[in-house]
Amino acid sequence: MHDDRNPPRYTINDNWPDAFGTMHWDTTPGWGESSSGKGDVNAWGASSATNKVEIDGRNFEEEENWWDAARRAECKRPGPGVLPPLLSELLHNPEHTLYSVSASLPKHSHSNSTSSTSSGSSQSQSTIHHPPSAEEVRKAVPHANAYYCKEHNGWVLLSWCSSTVLPPFARSFNPSSPLPDQARRKRTQSCVGEGEQPFGQANKTHHFHKYERAVDARMLNTPFKRSEWEEEELLKRRRRKMTLHEETMDTSVKVPQVEDEVEGDLLDLYVCCQCSVYCLASQVIPGVIPVKYVEDLTKDKLSHPSLDKTAHASVLSAWETIITILQNRIFKGENRVLPVTGAKFQSKIGWTPVIRQIFEQLGFPLRPLVPSEEQPQTLQPPEIDPSTPAGRRMRGKLLRAWVEVCAYTIIFQKSKSSTSFGNYDAQKLSVTVESAREMYQTGIGAHVNQIPRGLLPDNLLGCTDLNDVWEGLGMTPSSYSHDLVTFAYLAQCRCDPANTPTYFGHLHKLHEVMKTTGVPSSAREEIEMLLLQEKSRGRWSKEDLKRGAAVLGFGLDNALGVDLDDEVDEEFILRAWKDGLKRSWTMEDGNERRMQLYDALKILSELKSSKRLLDAWTHEKGSGMSPDAAYLALQVSKEVEDDMLITVYTFAVQDQPSQIEKMRNALTVIAESRDSQRLRGFLETGVDPGDVVQQVKMDMPRGLNQLGNTCYLNSLLQYFYTIKDLREAVTPLAATDFKTLEEKKLSDDDLKRHRVGGRLVTRREILRSKKFVNQLAELFWNLEYSEIPAVTPTMDLAKLALVTSQDEEEDDQCGTATDASNDTDATLVDDGPLPSRTQERSNSASPVVMSPGSMSDGSSVLGKRTRTDGPMDVDMDSAVDKGKDSYVVVEKPEASSSKGKAGHSGSAEVEMVEDVSKPQPPALPPRKPREVDDSVMMFGRQHDVSECMDNCMFQIETALLDFHEMAGTEDDKTSVVKRLFYGKKRQRLAPLDASEGAVSRYSVHEKEDLFSHLHVNVSEEGYDLYDGLSRYFDDVVEFEGVKRRMEVTLVDLPPLLQIQLQRVQFDRETQQAYKSQAYVKFGETIYLDRFMDTAAPEKKARAKAIQTRLNACRDRIYKLTQGKHAPFAPALGGVADFLEKQDALRLEEVDDDFIAVIKAEKDHVSAVLEQERAEAGKLKEELEAVWKDDVSSPYELTSVFIHRGASPSWGHYFFYSRHLPDKPDSWFKYNDSDVSIVPKEEVLADTTGSTANPYMLVFTRKDSDVVHTVHRFDADQLQDA
Ligand SMILES: [Zn+2]
Ligand SMILES: [Zn+2]
Ligand SMILES: [Zn+2]
Repeated sequence: MHDDRNPPRYTINDNWPDAFGTMHWDTTPGWGESSSGKGDVNAWGASSATNKVEIDGRNFEEEENWWDAARRAECKRPGPGVLPPLLSELLHNPEHTLYSVSASLPKHSHSNSTSSTSSGSSQSQSTIHHPPSAEEVRKAVPHANAYYCKEHNGWVLLSWCSSTVLPPFARSFNPSSPLPDQARRKRTQSCVGEGEQPFGQANKTHHFHKYERAVDARMLNTPFKRSEWEEEELLKRRRRKMTLHEETMDTSVKVPQVEDEVEGDLLDLYVCCQCSVYCLASQVIPGVIPVKYVEDLTKDKLSHPSLDKTAHASVLSAWETIITILQNRIFKGENRVLPVTGAKFQSKIGWTPVIRQIFEQLGFPLRPLVPSEEQPQTLQPPEIDPSTPAGRRMRGKLLRAWVEVCAYTIIFQKSKSSTSFGNYDAQKLSVTVESAREMYQTGIGAHVNQIPRGLLPDNLLGCTDLNDVWEGLGMTPSSYSHDLVTFAYLAQCRCDPANTPTYFGHLHKLHEVMKTTGVPSSAREEIEMLLLQEKSRGRWSKEDLKRGAAVLGFGLDNALGVDLDDEVDEEFILRAWKDGLKRSWTMEDGNERRMQLYDALKILSELKSSKRLLDAWTHEKGSGMSPDAAYLALQVSKEVEDDMLITVYTFAVQDQPSQIEKMRNALTVIAESRDSQRLRGFLETGVDPGDVVQQVKMDMPRGLNQLGNTCYLNSLLQYFYTIKDLREAVTPLAATDFKTLEEKKLSDDDLKRHRVGGRLVTRREILRSKKFVNQLAELFWNLEYSEIPAVTPTMDLAKLALVTSQDEEEDDQCGTATDASNDTDATLVDDGPLPSRTQERSNSASPVVMSPGSMSDGSSVLGKRTRTDGPMDVDMDSAVDKGKDSYVVVEKPEASSSKGKAGHSGSAEVEMVEDVSKPQPPALPPRKPREVDDSVMMFGRQHDVSECMDNCMFQIETALLDFHEMAGTEDDKTSVVKRLFYGKKRQRLAPLDASEGAVSRYSVHEKEDLFSHLHVNVSEEGYDLYDGLSRYFDDVVEFEGVKRRMEVTLVDLPPLLQIQLQRVQFDRETQQAYKSQAYVKFGETIYLDRFMDTAAPEKKARAKAIQTRLNACRDRIYKLTQGKHAPFAPALGGVADFLEKQDALRLEEVDDDFIAVIKAEKDHVSAVLEQERAEAGKLKEELEAVWKDDVSSPYELTSVFIHRGASPSWGHYFFYSRHLPDKPDSWFKYNDSDVSIVPKEEVLADTTGSTANPYMLVFTRKDSDVVHTVHRFDADQLQDA
């Protein structure tokens, strides 16, 4: 049933002829031999009604490749569309009714009789009245296509037509998505309607695409222009704005050009992608009286009706009075003032603030009758003489207001029952209104006669769950029918292929909701059918994606421990898939799992738009065979060699050509299960590539296959391998006999001879370490001799590297079962009884303490992490003082009970453990308890890179301890680990202010210490490695509550200098650790002279002075660009822009001056920043100049560890190692199983903007010859010798 290569297709595709390269859904005869869906029935079974939905313009091949961005770009589809019922709601609020309005001259308009409302005035008419013509009155309606909305007291311009020519676009129009194919549109006059189409009905209905503000209303056939009075008001506003811009002289603000003003109102364009129909709609064009006042007056009258009228009649009467006043002014030339306190005025309307506002809007100013007296107040009718510009404008405005108030009044009256007006005798108005709804709904194809309503299953009525589904499909629930849903879905997929999964998801959700709400199965049959058809075409939803990702092992608590996101690349997915397949071969429900894996790969290949993954899916997928079944299919035994398999396969295919697919699948499965490059190569090319191993050059380093969760371990193991002396020390331990080792128990005295990491080690630890090194040696052997391109570290090796002995012991102690050996071996012989938990935790603050105060700097995934355990100190009981802020001063212990085995520091010295990470983040929460970790992690407690590194180094050192030769006294550099990785530094704790003087009670503390890492805090941009190190070597710490200067100098340098870039930073605001992606510039060489204890004091002083200024300068830059509320300049610019452009809020305080001030501030900040940056650059140059001749301690970059990912807690790790000693300009990139050669430019690249950046750099002393990168066994050389 499941046949991936050949998914069921719409048969219609087969008989579609192809003049347009398109696919029709169901068409008339003439386009193919089949008609009316008969052909389809064969494919889909008789019940499928979905194939009968008419829809054209589809292209099967294009839909198949919806995920391919390049293909999509070629097709230029217009994006999501909407069906007519939703368009009708988009044109204007569906709760509002739009009306056609026409106006004619009122009867008796030429009569000169005096108005009844103008009593009490003796003023006589002084000007000659010019009554408006019938034409003038007709044009009081803004446009032939303007429709009145009572709820807005405004107008909406609507027009629709079927035309092969689109209206001219506005100058400013810049479509955000392509316009529908015009050629296709021209072929069909309208999707809706009968018998008009040359080829019959091609589409179920229209599919409209919106283009916002696309058409200039002034360029319509009947242009729409704002009236002079409106223009004047708009112009006034614009002029005011322009003047203000000139005043501020800010050139960054776009001053409206004269041409811009030529553009009129911009209309939204809705174009059907299938036919010539389009539709235009404007925003609401507001009426003369703001709708707020209109509503207020009506409300006021409803709640305070006149005594002699019903509430409704009172409203009517008030509006009619306004109409009368307007008519008298416009048509009768009534020019007398209206005393607002007059009895008639009072009884008809009353005098309220709203009335006052309305008359102000109408241009009737309020004036006292007699200028010298306050009362009585009167309304002064405006001048409307058409011979003056002002009069002409006012005349237009009053006429418009009159039409609007009339329309409003009539609609109000129509909307109430006639009895609600009592016996009130309404005035006859010369304006008529008529609902336009049916007309425009028919025009755009949304009329109920065109699209039936009321077919939504009852269970779905009022189901808000589906709102996103309806909206996404571009339809409304009320217009639901299976056909329409089918059409909407197919049309969206056709026009917006990129979002195919979203649309499929909608379909899926609709079906789910139908099921859960109990829609009878008969009513959802069609949807179900469509869903199945689409599923069989490989369509998937976001839910399917989630499931697929989980099957492949994605998810933080899943096998891969990584979420599927943009960071995950093809390679990674492919590997996860192959691993999944391998696992499935041992699973009981392996077949089902393989099916899921194939489906998941298909989904991910589409999600990632990856041709490579899709190819893998197409070529490598089997039919769900297990390896056993595969061998059976080819009738060979499992032991048969690759070359024999190829021969067998070739014959089998010749014998039974019909079985080729099956055979091929079988061989594919075998190739994967054997991990055979040769078979893969054969499957890919059809040619036996021979022994593939030969293709991987013998002198290439080998890769390491990844083991589950071991992310960074491979980088470390490869790193260790490149270090010649380490490799040579470890290799001989490949052949360790553990039997004898366990028997050969060391005496307690033996154990007291050595300290590793400042403490004694246990028998158990020694045994464990030997096991580790034994495994490591075996791995090294494989890396040297293996002929295959990548080898796999053992589980044991990974476990021993990732889990510290302390973890292991703790876990054992927590567990109920006690390892028998634990009792005897886990004892810390020399310190008497088993240490308390506290002590042990403190010892394991950094799980492996190589040397007190040196390796102890704590660490985290990519750098330092402060533990809840507090700072490490050597023996709790000897701590004499514990300063604040992790600054611990400890008297060097006289090694409590051990005699004379003091550490490498003199007994009189002060032990200092400083916290080098500044600013110091609060402690992170303790790790999750083991129980939780257990289920999700392969090795229980997961350590971070540097802990793991420390653990490995500890074990190497411990395993190499020599208990029989007494050479291993405490002299530092006896062990290979100490010799290679450890240097000596001197720390001085001095007063912050030099003038504090040496006599201060705070004497200068000084001591020497070993170190294996230098730390560079990575949090800010624009720093190079010297800058970072400077902060390490000269820092300010808090000691005994006082700030002190911590100066560090280097006394002795190790051959390998490991510099850790501490990318894990702590965000105080969010209380979250995050990864800093800042770029730290580094080069191939670094000179450490300036940090040496022996550096010239006067240069140091000079450098320090410059550094202080530079730091201050950088602090200021930081404050402006990255500190709290930063960056300032863009923020200020944004605020100014926002305030200037927004008009939703009325902010009294915000005037143009205020905005100008903000802008000036922005410029100021930008200027300061520029200045500071220039200054910082100059100081940096000065600083480098001080040291330019100090080049006697050159170190060369040899290894770079990269973490790629946005989060500090997971990601992908890889590693670069320089090809030493042979080709120093060439580098190897170790990416798990792949090792490739890359140019040095890749290693040194500026990583700004990337999430892949170094977390550790290793430099080696020039000419120290400690790194031999490749070290491969060379048989040729052997023969030569
Ligand atoms: Zn409205
Ligand atoms: Zn259409
Ligand atoms: Zn469309």
